[in-house]
Amino acid sequence: MKTNYHTHTFRCKHASGTDRDYVVAAVANGFSELGFSDHVPYPYQDYTPPYRMLLGERESYMAAVNGLKKEYAGKIRILTGFECEALPQYRNYLAELREQADYLILGNHGDESKPDYRYAGFNTRPEHIREYVESTLKGMEWGIFSYLCHPDLTLHSYPVFDAAAKDMSRQISRAAKALNIPLEYNLNGIYNHLGMKDTLGYPCRMFWEIAAEEGAAAIMGVDAHSPQSFAWPEWDTGVHFLHSLGITVLEKLEL
Ligand SMILES: [Zn+2]
Ligand SMILES: [Zn+2]
Repeated sequence: MKTNYHTHTFRCKHASGTDRDYVVAAVANGFSELGFSDHVPYPYQDYTPPYRMLLGERESYMAAVNGLKKEYAGKIRILTGFECEALPQYRNYLAELREQADYLILGNHGDESKPDYRYAGFNTRPEHIREYVESTLKGMEWGIFSYLCHPDLTLHSYPVFDAAAKDMSRQISRAAKALNIPLEYNLNGIYNHLGMKDTLGYPCRMFWEIAAEEGAAAIMGVDAHSPQSFAWPEWDTGVHFLHSLGITVLEKLEL
């Protein structure tokens, strides 16, 4: 059985296809559960985000996914969700949203609305990694996120698995185990890293070796930004890799 809880839609302005295209592709590729988790809209005051849905689109997104949920009942289980950064100023907003959606997942990309914003995938220095750990751990402790997306995203542009990278892997894996939060093995990261040399990328083997030592559980995530992503052969390779490390790979989320 395959399940995927990391699925985007055209509303984030960097994903292609219709909502239905994703459902059709998931069914065709043998998925029994499909969670939509588009980048969450925030109630920003003076900032217009380029790569996520606007607040005004939230209700129609939920309605569209709920419509597909009814229409495809019996063929595939569809869930409403959002991928969220744990921005402290929106903690109450996200806690309320958790009640309306089937689930939320934590994806720590950084706070794009801040003048000093740096995408977590562009972290290059040890202090960047330490900032990533700090904000990720805080979000994990909120208790509203069903799993942590691409925990090793911070290694995408990072050159070497140094002490900061090791410590990041250890702390996040340890928290995942203690808080019972699965860590996502993110397939999109493999494609994002194509053509990049001299950086670690994600999923990062050394990160997962430490996750195995700490006894953290994993869950597969397509992070679909296109319906074709459901056919990626790296799904099976990834599951085999995690099993070879002795990591438990969850087949579905208990929501
Ligand atoms: Zn995205
Ligand atoms: Zn995502």
